[in-house]
Amino acid sequence: MSLALIALGGNLGDVVSSFQFALDWLDELGTIQGKSSLYRTIPVGVVDAQEDYLNAVVSLETTLVPEELLEELLNIEHARGRERFIKNGARTLDLDLLAYDDLVLNTERLTLPHPRMWERAFVLKPLGDILPDWVHPLKGQKVWEAVSGLDLEGVELEAEVW
Ligand code: ADP
Ligand code: MG
Repeated sequence: MSLALIALGGNLGDVVSSFQFALDWLDELGTIQGKSSLYRTIPVGVVDAQEDYLNAVVSLETTLVPEELLEELLNIEHARGRERFIKNGARTLDLDLLAYDDLVLNTERLTLPHPRMWERAFVLKPLGDILPDWVHPLKGQKVWEAVSGLDLEGVELEAEVW
């Protein structure tokens, strides 16, 4: 068994229902171990004016290998109608594989840990809810340590239970 950390995001349509759809699917791929609170976040690095995002992180115990899991994440996104019009554009559902155990990997399709996770408050804040002591295999730093160095303005608690 391996532990995969997965980030959920979205800002189009009924995002909570998209997240629920993703959780139901992920539940078929293993066992969901942890589920963060739900956060409302201000879009960062986007080119156009956009709605706020909702973000959350879950941990999944699974026997799938990382490539299989990524494939499933893309299947879930597509099943939920995500279309990629522009990079960093608005989306119904974005699923990123943040990490898979302590694996460090860099292939054409998959980079682990996710290359931008350590600078993203909208990822680290929810991750800190479920795994504050998880250590980034390349940075050698814990999640809570990284969170304490971040500007958390723009990341607001939306719901503890969802
Ligand atoms: P972003 O999430 O950065 O807005 P996308 O979801 O459109 O962008 O990214 C798509 C591609 O990024 C995927 O097709 C996948 O092959 C690649 N990718 C590389 N590493 C990862 C990862 N750790 N998690 C998710 N996608 C990844
Ligand atoms: Mg993505």
